[in-house]
Amino acid sequence: MSDVTEKDKELVAGLMARARAAQKEFEANFTDQDQLYEIAQHIAWVGFKYAEEIADMAVRESRMGKYESKVAKMQTKMRGNIRDLKNAKTVGVVEEWPEKGLTRMVKPVGVIGAIIPCTNPEATPFLKGMNAIICRDAIIMSPHPRTAGTNKFCCDLMRKVLKKFGAPEDLVLSIDEPTLGASQELMAQCDLVLATGGSGLVKAAYSSGTPAYGVGAGNAVVIVDETADLDDVANKVYMSKTFDNATSCSSENSLVVQEDVYDELLAKLQAKHGLLCNEEQQEKLRQMMFLPTGHYNGKKGFAGATPEKIAELAGITDMPEGTEFFIVRENPKTPDEIGSFEYPFGGEKLCVVLNVFKYKDFQTAIDIVNACHRFSGLGHSCGIHTKREDRVMELSAKTYTSRVMVNQPVCLANSGSFTNGMPFTLSLGCGTWGGNSASENITYKQCLNNTWVARPCKEDKPADEVLFGKAMESDL
Ligand code: NAD
Repeated sequence: MSDVTEKDKELVAGLMARARAAQKEFEANFTDQDQLYEIAQHIAWVGFKYAEEIADMAVRESRMGKYESKVAKMQTKMRGNIRDLKNAKTVGVVEEWPEKGLTRMVKPVGVIGAIIPCTNPEATPFLKGMNAIICRDAIIMSPHPRTAGTNKFCCDLMRKVLKKFGAPEDLVLSIDEPTLGASQELMAQCDLVLATGGSGLVKAAYSSGTPAYGVGAGNAVVIVDETADLDDVANKVYMSKTFDNATSCSSENSLVVQEDVYDELLAKLQAKHGLLCNEEQQEKLRQMMFLPTGHYNGKKGFAGATPEKIAELAGITDMPEGTEFFIVRENPKTPDEIGSFEYPFGGEKLCVVLNVFKYKDFQTAIDIVNACHRFSGLGHSCGIHTKREDRVMELSAKTYTSRVMVNQPVCLANSGSFTNGMPFTLSLGCGTWGGNSASENITYKQCLNNTWVARPCKEDKPADEVLFGKAMESDL
């Protein structure tokens, strides 16, 4: 907490007072569920309508990602989140169990402190904003210092929507000159933290003393077995890996490929504009990208960069024109060697470098997934391309991830898709495995408090013989 200055404290106290007043007024006067949904629809619409301006600004400010991907992301996420809010009940009584005499009522949590990642500065404010407003919360967004302009632009659009409905504009506020200290102070003063970012941020969120949903680093590791449709795999991995220059926490970081289909899949990935690195090229990437611990070096400027920029940073002078991603190969003697400066590529890389492992038997593939995650991104996501449902279930049972994506491009599937059942989000809980309190996609549901109304009901107290069963006869 040493980064916090008096100026940060004053700034945040001022924003909190405005947000608090706006939230109380909104809670008292906006109680119609249909109207709240309509406000959310307008927020989704302005995000959709201004997707191009926002994407352009986000790429220029963050110096990460791709304009076309960010436009597509804005449009998909706006459609998806508002779809998910269609029947959301966020006011008053939402559930009743007459036989138990129970009623569940929901209420706002108050003022949310939202920490916005540099890798995703365009769509995150809208999703968090939409979810907060439909739950009648106020929200203060703290962006990464580099993307302050994008964040302000997004917040101003949402404020315009609120004004149109006669709602207090201060329900959505932004920190326009963000600092680490201001972000920490916001987390200390608000009622609930929604922190999206890497492990440093998540630790800071949980240390703030405020209830928090921190969602941590990703490192999607995906098995490809010998039954998979390899053309389909190559296409999906290509789409997902190159989307937004792999800034997503859900981007495929490593494939774990069965040895009988390994060469064929590599050939198909090369045909999808992947450069299969030779030893010298791979070594140059390794030396440039990683710290002695094996973790990626965030200061080198390759996160979310174009392939040309990555080649320049690594000193690779023979990258063929048209290359869209790099393919590296790691073959440690045992999975335990994964996650060191010698074998660093199994961790999160936040860039268009795809690592490929080879395996013989399925248990080894699972061991590799677990070894990668022990090193980086535990609890976030893994995937499998297979025709064997038994392997889907075996992988799901034996790994420590909150999401297992089956025959899908991970980054276009695990945070919501129109062709699977995952709820839309940009904040993916990683469970206790990843140091998080939630192991699900964070949605509007986390922006509400419950009030449980309990009346006396018919007694429900089974006999002890039923409750304790054979345990009552034991000699313990
Ligand atoms: P980052 O953690 O560096 O920063 C995220 C935000 O937190 C920024 O606004 C930053 O200013 C702030 N911040 C960072 N450290 C802080 C601290 N100690 N105290 C207060 N504020 C702090 O992340 P990034 O580079 O923007 O994003 C990349 C990382 O985030 C990757 O590891 C990625 O996997 C992860 N991520 C995860 C999810 C998810 O849903 N699980 C989503 C996006 C990004």
